[in-house]
Amino acid sequence: MTRTRRAGSRVLVLNSGSSSVKYQLLDMNGTVHGTARLATGLVERIGERSARLVHTPAHGERREREADLPDHRAALTAAAEELAADGLGLDAPELAAVGHRVVHGGRWFTEPTVVDEGVLAEIERLVPLAPLHNPANIAGIRTAMALNGDVPQVAVFDTAFHTTIPEHAARYALDAKTAEEHRIRKYGFHGTSHAYVARRTAALLGREPSAVNVIVLHLGNGASASAVAGGRCVETSMGLTPLEGLVMGTRSGDIDPAVVFHLSRVAGLAMEDIDVLLNQRSGLMGLCGDNDMREVLRRRAEGDEEARLAFDVYIHRLKKYIGAYCAVLGRVDAVAFTAGVGENAAPVRSAAVAGLEGLGIEVDEPANTARESGPRLISPEYARVAVAVVPTDEELEIATQVFALVGS
Ligand code: AMP
Repeated sequence: MTRTRRAGSRVLVLNSGSSSVKYQLLDMNGTVHGTARLATGLVERIGERSARLVHTPAHGERREREADLPDHRAALTAAAEELAADGLGLDAPELAAVGHRVVHGGRWFTEPTVVDEGVLAEIERLVPLAPLHNPANIAGIRTAMALNGDVPQVAVFDTAFHTTIPEHAARYALDAKTAEEHRIRKYGFHGTSHAYVARRTAALLGREPSAVNVIVLHLGNGASASAVAGGRCVETSMGLTPLEGLVMGTRSGDIDPAVVFHLSRVAGLAMEDIDVLLNQRSGLMGLCGDNDMREVLRRRAEGDEEARLAFDVYIHRLKKYIGAYCAVLGRVDAVAFTAGVGENAAPVRSAAVAGLEGLGIEVDEPANTARESGPRLISPEYARVAVAVVPTDEELEIATQVFALVGS
């Protein structure tokens, strides 16, 4: 691992999507939990006629403006200007590093990595595995390099936490040569979140991560489960791409692969259309027309049949994965719910574990429905397995990993 020690305690975290950039500037020597958020921001609709930038400094008014931002370079330059206006410019000596969320790191990026041309070439080589995400991540890194060539750029990979998954769990039962030639295997995603939540859950139990086995359920618009044994990931539900596994907002999750042949041969759909169907028009959206769990819950409460079925399909898949990961782990100490749905939707949490009392997994309804935020236990005291709600914080985890690598 290359170490580049830097003075300064600030880390700028960039999450570059295909048409958006989210950023957070954190001070790792701050007072709140050891870190302080100095500013957060979002640039949306990059490349469209009118992009939107929302910038929120910790000490000051939220600012919002529309601008013509044709590409990532323009978007990041605009964000850097906003930061500079708050005295938080990228040229400040306090900036220790820029941390970049990079979606696909393949098999070899197992840790946060200081970016050089060789690393960029490797991320580029992985573009066929993440055609929407890696190019945006590369654009973000190149722009940040151009804005300040002196500050280290560190890539933190969504796949890294899953590189400990044993070969028998990562391999598909495919012709070995074909799989190797095309690098087809389970990579897993949301790794930064799974790592953070597994560690935070151990802390909630007052134990070392190495002593705890956790099933992490990251349920957002994208959703994935992971089995974490003593701090190391041993199984996860997303695969070669984020399409595999749980039912998501708009993605189907697991499906018989022959559905693709059927849609092609019988329904006459083109490959691109099948891709769009499974990634953007399936999941909750496909089942009931809404991808937002809040809407699904509202409609279900009103007796809407489609919404009820969508909820039931979602829950059934989730429960299957909890059961499967109990078998994978052998001993489970905790089940942790996180992300938009996992943190906020009490009916999802209670339905997902209903009937699992035999496995020692149950929730205490008053604790489950209590209006609380922050990491908390929602299982009854007598339960063998702790059930927890642990808000994820991917930006903090990225900044922490980056600062551990380059901070002084
Ligand atoms: P994320 O991808 O983690 O930002 O999660 C986004 C998703 O969380 C949204 O699509 C909603 O479905 C879901 N969500 C957010 N708040 C709630 C809530 N109060 N109840 C149910 N679902 C929610």
